[in-house]
Amino acid sequence: MNTLLSAPPLLPDVARLRPRQQMGIDCAVCGLPLGPSGRVLGEVRYRGLPFRLWMCAAGCETVPSAHGI
Ligand SMILES: [Zn+2]
Repeated sequence: MNTLLSAPPLLPDVARLRPRQQMGIDCAVCGLPLGPSGRVLGEVRYRGLPFRLWMCAAGCETVPSAHGI
């Protein structure tokens, strides 16, 4: 599964993400802390500001519905 930055896949709704996820500290998909690793999920605009969303480098092991978000 390759990700094209110019044509990102379906991205999470930034408004629903926690600030740590919006800032790329936590995974935007599963909410786990990324630490030094992680990869760009995509870039979105929210309230006129660009946000770069990050996700787990090796893929997420947990799904949001199972993580209680
Ligand atoms: Zn994740």
